[in-house]
Amino acid sequence: MHACTESAELGLYTRPVYHLSREDSTNPLILVCDHASRYIPEALDNLGLDDTAAGEHIAWDIGALQLAEQLAEKLGATLLSANYSRLLIDLNRPRHAPDSIPAQSEIYQIPGNRELDEATREYRRQTLFKPFHARLQTLIDERLAKGQAVRVVGIHSFTPVYYGQPRTLEIGVLFVHAKAYAQRLLNGLDEHSLQVAGNQPYKIDPLGDMTVPVHGDARGLDSVLVEVRNDLLRSPQAVSLWAGYLAPLL
Ligand SMILES: [Zn+2]
Repeated sequence: MHACTESAELGLYTRPVYHLSREDSTNPLILVCDHASRYIPEALDNLGLDDTAAGEHIAWDIGALQLAEQLAEKLGATLLSANYSRLLIDLNRPRHAPDSIPAQSEIYQIPGNRELDEATREYRRQTLFKPFHARLQTLIDERLAKGQAVRVVGIHSFTPVYYGQPRTLEIGVLFVHAKAYAQRLLNGLDEHSLQVAGNQPYKIDPLGDMTVPVHGDARGLDSVLVEVRNDLLRSPQAVSLWAGYLAPLL
């Protein structure tokens, strides 16, 4: 096992952990984009990945931030987005989940996450994970204390080819408790003749996810994740189309 390789003295994580926009919005919707960024501090050398792999879906959700920003703009809604790559620590996994700091993601090995000692893992949890979730929790607390309605929606994207298999699905709505809210979204998306499905391409693991089970379901709030196939989010015009489908439904 290697020694602790990250610490405050190294100044690795100097950029803000998250970006919060329209904090004082009165729209019940809180948009969360936890896989928004591919940013890995330069000193970590892309965690040993080559440039192509470090720009792939394993590092971030391609196009998700642009979609979340357009939705936030259209609806005047609050958006909390992450400023670091999910490969450093995945904000949508509980802090002690095996894939919180992945040594492998889909078909890619992540050399820089192999054999990390516990002190380094804890440092990432304290520095990157904790502030993001604390901010989201406080945001929700404040609104509930004022008697405001809250809905928590994660905006994600997924790769068109997964373990070599092409995916035809275009958009998925992932949920556990919020069945009626999710169904309303699914019905609305269906009207545009899209390849749409509930709880695909992934299912939410109540013990292995964060946004929906922790910030939504556990607090009795309507909460879903929206997953759009990332090849459909490669231009501003394409993103606008999806924002147009989703905005009236959220
Ligand atoms: Zn994601």
